[in-house]
Amino acid sequence: MALHAVSAKSIDDVYTLPLSEEELPKYRMPVGTSDPRAVYAMIHSELKLDGNSSQNLATFCTTWSDEEVHKLMDENLDKNMIDKDEYPQTAEIESRCVHILADLWNSPSERTTMGCSTTGSSEAAMLGGLALKWRWRQRRQKEGKPADRPNIVAGPVQVCWEKFARYFDVELRQVPLEEGATGLRAHQLREYADENTIGVVAILGVTFTCDYEPVAEIARELDAIQADTGLDIPIHVDAASGGFIAPFVQPDLVWDFRIDRVASVNASGHKYGLSPLGVGWVVWRDAGALPEELIFKVDYLGGNMPTFALNFSRPGGEIIAQYYNFLRLGREGYRKVQQACMDTARYLAGRIADMGPFELLYDGTGALPAVSYTLKDAAQGFTLYDLTEILRVRGWQVPAYPLPPRRQETVIQRVLVRHGIGRDEIALLADDLERSIERLRNGTPSGAERKAFHHS
Ligand SMILES: *Cc1c(COP(=O)(O)O)cnc(C)c1O
Repeated sequence: MALHAVSAKSIDDVYTLPLSEEELPKYRMPVGTSDPRAVYAMIHSELKLDGNSSQNLATFCTTWSDEEVHKLMDENLDKNMIDKDEYPQTAEIESRCVHILADLWNSPSERTTMGCSTTGSSEAAMLGGLALKWRWRQRRQKEGKPADRPNIVAGPVQVCWEKFARYFDVELRQVPLEEGATGLRAHQLREYADENTIGVVAILGVTFTCDYEPVAEIARELDAIQADTGLDIPIHVDAASGGFIAPFVQPDLVWDFRIDRVASVNASGHKYGLSPLGVGWVVWRDAGALPEELIFKVDYLGGNMPTFALNFSRPGGEIIAQYYNFLRLGREGYRKVQQACMDTARYLAGRIADMGPFELLYDGTGALPAVSYTLKDAAQGFTLYDLTEILRVRGWQVPAYPLPPRRQETVIQRVLVRHGIGRDEIALLADDLERSIERLRNGTPSGAERKAFHHS
């Protein structure tokens, strides 16, 4: 193989450079250098084979950003957020975001509370879970009771809580879904919570169904359990998605630090927080809810900085972009963006209800801007998996999957509406859904489509 650098001339057309005329190395690092234009062009075109992210209706994550966010990300590419002494303003901006979120979630101590950025809600959930575990253990040890069999109680959790349980040796007591339920119900708790329960996870925006779990009712039930048994069990709210929806479009819903029992909250900055991928947040009710032993003092980067995180080095850009969004949109801007998504989800729910074969499981009202639905009965002549596959032909990614235990015989489909997905795009999806159903039922393209094809 020739050394590319020798033959490449900078005036050559990109597609006549050596790298453009052969298959890219896949198992071994090439010996020589290549023209960056060619490398860029080749990788750029390869990545076109990935799905189009705006048609990925399976993801909660940000797929659209302001020009200014792109610029700030680029300008801060070299900043390591862990290096708080070298980049004090990035650290300051992280801290501002924590306090803004504490205030948004009605913390009683928004200026003094503890919190931090993370790589996403998964890391944030682990930190929240660890704080619960440490506090429970301290309490048990003080009482002279065994502290070796902690459990955490939750409904249909996102996989991060299964990871937390396994990685940190906590039993996950997953409460199965009741008939007709879209999440944990308060009256189910008594059967699962006991003296070894480090906390209950309430989910604001269940991953599978997009509905909110009733945090206030869960708290009231835990109050009743405390009155009866003396057990004081805290709540961690996994508000991965809902933490950036509820404060803006359901401001009267009480789910956050207004409830005394809520010890900590996590949310994904890179979901409805509208920041680019790679940022989550966890905030504790007050400094007392985060045990001191979990905070490390790091001094070798210069200065003596407290840190609580699973990672060490991490980019600062996403955090800066989060602050940009807070300033750029303000409460009113976030409300408008999320309300537009809610309205579009409602519109889609209406279209889906009118199509005939579907039964809505979540109609886009009262929780996340999303729709989930199932087939009315099995006699439709097709499954939701078939529908997923046929929608893929037009580039749409609409996942089909079974509900969590006890309702696993119900297969559902889910569409998430996010910033950057407009009404018209969803109308086009609905049209494609209608055409796909017809096609699946008839096994052939419809007459109208054939005609359109002949005329084109
Ligand atoms: C997405 C999600 C998570 C995981 O969040 P990441 O930011 O992807 O790590 C956890 N819990 C819920 C409810 C989620 O929706």
